[in-house]
Amino acid sequence: MKTPFITLEKAREITKQFPTPFHIYDEKGIIENLERFKAAFSWNKGFREYFAVKATPTPGIIKLLTDRGCGTDCSSLTELMLSEKMGITGERIMFSSNATPPEEFVLARKLGAIINLDDITHIDFLERVAGLPETICCRYNPGVFTISNSIMDEPSNAKYGFTRPQLSEGFKTLLSKGVKHFGLHAFLSSNTSTEEYYPTLARELFKTAVELKKETGAHISFINLSGGIGIPYYPDQAPNDIALIGEGVKKAYEEILIPEGMDDVAIYTELGRYMLAPYGALVATAIHRKDTHKHYIGLDSCACDLMRPAMYGAYHHITVLGKEDAPKVQTYDVTGSLCENNDKFAVDRLLPEIEMGDLIYIHDAGAHGRAMGYNYNGKLRAGELLLHTDGSVEMIRRRETPEDYFATLDFTGLFDEK
Ligand SMILES: *Cc1c(COP(=O)(O)O)cnc(C)c1O
Repeated sequence: MKTPFITLEKAREITKQFPTPFHIYDEKGIIENLERFKAAFSWNKGFREYFAVKATPTPGIIKLLTDRGCGTDCSSLTELMLSEKMGITGERIMFSSNATPPEEFVLARKLGAIINLDDITHIDFLERVAGLPETICCRYNPGVFTISNSIMDEPSNAKYGFTRPQLSEGFKTLLSKGVKHFGLHAFLSSNTSTEEYYPTLARELFKTAVELKKETGAHISFINLSGGIGIPYYPDQAPNDIALIGEGVKKAYEEILIPEGMDDVAIYTELGRYMLAPYGALVATAIHRKDTHKHYIGLDSCACDLMRPAMYGAYHHITVLGKEDAPKVQTYDVTGSLCENNDKFAVDRLLPEIEMGDLIYIHDAGAHGRAMGYNYNGKLRAGELLLHTDGSVEMIRRRETPEDYFATLDFTGLFDEK
């Protein structure tokens, strides 16, 4: 059972000021989830969540997290700039990128961010373009991992990270070039539904950290478990028990790191989806019904506002607001307006009878939703609203306008008078 965080009545009140389509986020849900999450890792002294900015790169959202101790996990120039604008600098930024352009390393170094190297060749590259810092992180790709899935593929097919022998060589090179403190990172599975993911990953990274310390003498100051904790997109799925996940990592820490005297190792995370996805929704209006070989409901939104169903065939639960308890009597394809047949929020979905004007609430769009939006077909992306804990609603990002779309186009010289 999945329940929207706004009622039909609230949604109607909101649409008077902010017409559909819009993304809306639940401040209360975001904060409560973050506090539960922090509590699960409070046993670790240096613990920090670096929110994966790419999931929801909206200042009004990021601030909710950074005001409560989170850093930012950035992967591009503009994400670094966004952090800087929000006053997040130094070791509160994790820069986890790949195939990194030089100017991104330059800005990351200027801001004092922790740099997470994706490849052994990036050691020389970074040294050349921006110099090496005292603290650095390396991304590990073990090639095989027991808990993998289709978003990330098998580690051996994933483009990220150093191999195990490259880690040893890389650490030695970095030490010889004056690096003093090391982190180890891996991101091996996405949207995981088992509480075993983080503990299993932690074990792998802790063991590798012990080996690297013994082998090279490097001081390991943190382990970065990255993102990947999933959320229940399907109504019959149980949410991950975060307390259990924290306990599992603690057990691994006590078994592997403590006996080696590595009791000062901080645990970092870079979650995006887990922090935000359930606390955001895309709200659209049913504007067309079409009965041909199938029954279609056309919305005033499209994949440009939420790409996951079109891109991964991802399931997003749909509630017809006000019809939460109505019998599900119709099988619909719920579509957007793109000239692309994969522009469907749901295929063969059993739903209550939908009338034109009904408000359609698409669940779990709070991460990798608005953020993955695009402008195909000249579509203008929806804005974002924040439902505050006191019930008030604030626009935290406006809807795109035709002027935004035309801003990069250049007509000069095309129609000059002779
Ligand atoms: C995408 C990404 C994350 C966040 O992943 P989620 O699945 O949203 O938790 C964290 N770290 C890196 C390096 C990423 O690319």
